[in-house]
Amino acid sequence: MPSARVAVIGAGVSGLTLAALLAQRGHRVTVYERDRPGGKLRRETSGDLTFDTGPSLFTFPEVWRRVLARLGEKSDPLDLYPLPGGLGVHHTPHGPVPLPVPAGHALHAEWERYAAEVRPLRPHVLTLLTTPPSLTHPAFLRASAALLRVTGPHLTAGGWLRARIFPPALHHALAVHALNAGQGPDEGSVLYALLPALMADDVFRPWRGMGAVLDALLGYCAARGVQLRSGEPVTSLHALPDHDLTVSAVDPARVTALRGLPVPRGPLSVSGLALYAPLPDALHGRLPATSVVTPDDYPAFAAAMRARALPPSTLALVHADPQSGTGRAGRLALLLTVPPTGRDLPVTHPWVQSQLRRVAAALGTDPVTLLPAPGPLISLGPQHYAQGGAPGGAIYGTALPAWRSGPLHPQPYRLTSTLWQVGTGVHPGGGLPAVLGSALIVDTLLRTHGH
Ligand SMILES: Cc1cc2nc3c(=O)[nH]c(=O)nc-3n(C[C@H](O)[C@H](O)[C@H](O)COP(=O)(O)OP(=O)(O)OC[C@H]3O[C@@H](n4cnc5c(N)ncnc54)[C@H](O)[C@@H]3O)c2cc1C
Repeated sequence: MPSARVAVIGAGVSGLTLAALLAQRGHRVTVYERDRPGGKLRRETSGDLTFDTGPSLFTFPEVWRRVLARLGEKSDPLDLYPLPGGLGVHHTPHGPVPLPVPAGHALHAEWERYAAEVRPLRPHVLTLLTTPPSLTHPAFLRASAALLRVTGPHLTAGGWLRARIFPPALHHALAVHALNAGQGPDEGSVLYALLPALMADDVFRPWRGMGAVLDALLGYCAARGVQLRSGEPVTSLHALPDHDLTVSAVDPARVTALRGLPVPRGPLSVSGLALYAPLPDALHGRLPATSVVTPDDYPAFAAAMRARALPPSTLALVHADPQSGTGRAGRLALLLTVPPTGRDLPVTHPWVQSQLRRVAAALGTDPVTLLPAPGPLISLGPQHYAQGGAPGGAIYGTALPAWRSGPLHPQPYRLTSTLWQVGTGVHPGGGLPAVLGSALIVDTLLRTHGH
């Protein structure tokens, strides 16, 4: 197979993974990055504390191991450890629900009924995440059939959950996972109702923090001769004439603009306000690794997001990382879901303050204990996420109709004969497993196209 000159646009997790995979097969790869590498996963330092911003939960580690296998890497530098409490305690208007629900809990039997229904899909998840969708691929067909047996006729997460008649607290806690696609349960794909059962026992974090993923990918790229051109935004595809192939690892709206095409204005998924602070001494040992405070009312939440207005109550994720054993200070990450307005919200904004009071109350504390003066050291909002990402800072890009999610309705990996696409653009809402999976899929497809 002749060596091609490949330009990758974007040095997020998906762009760096694909760059390493292509370089491993002998291609000459240059990655263009408008800023510094990492994309949504990056290291930010404030004073003597370093925070890994963006993803906090590393799920479906088999996808990562498949990347390592394809790179011929014998050892895994991530040192993944299982996060205590899995997906965390979900604070719903009907009471707190830990997911997975442990034995002895009043909701355990109902959780088991739910998990048993989804369990037959587990052996197929790796196939669905890493195989190019094809109606002639036996493993893909088997996995898709298994998926359809579990989803039945339902398209949305909300529809599937309502048909099961779970107790309100469990229903509410499971429904919040539709927001992994950046939409409410009645808009988000049915796949997201199944996620808690598929990943609750498989939630990890690298021992040295999520930044270890970035370090590993940068190391793999450097070892294979990938040229990384940080601080070099691509402003037009015509500006990349010296390459045989181009792969976009940026949001589809961005690559549409780079192609000189009009960018359609569609509904957008949610954005976020991410606040990072030292873990207060008073909360050491008092907070679970992950707490999820759900919106009280999903329809009201979804309507506000569609109108790009602030919802009465929002989804908040709180990650408490005591860093025990590492000798480093503990860290707190507090993520509030906000509309994709492209405008930042100061922590002093009355709506932010009201949500912080709500979160603190759910966690059994008060806002001053949760975020003592001087407040968060780092604050990233829609304006930040819009700079290198989707319009409005929508974390998961355009909000797609439920039927367009999942393996049976693939997004376009191949835009033209010389332009391909990886990352959130092809697996909206999927997080790290899906963007890593998209790099494996595009690597496979490029090989079958003779590259
Ligand atoms: C707050 C938050 C929490 C999250 N939590 C989780 C979690 O717990 N678990 C999980 O699995 N996932 C999580 N995610 C999602 C996960 O971080 C993303 O799915 C993943 O990082 C996306 O990677 P990507 O490579 O597709 O895109 P990006 O990270 O968006 O990378 C795109 C890159 O392209 C660059 N770029 C853009 N335009 C240009 C241009 N014209 N020229 C050159 N470069 C350009 C950008 O600067 C950026 O570096 C979270 C995301 C956020 C924001």
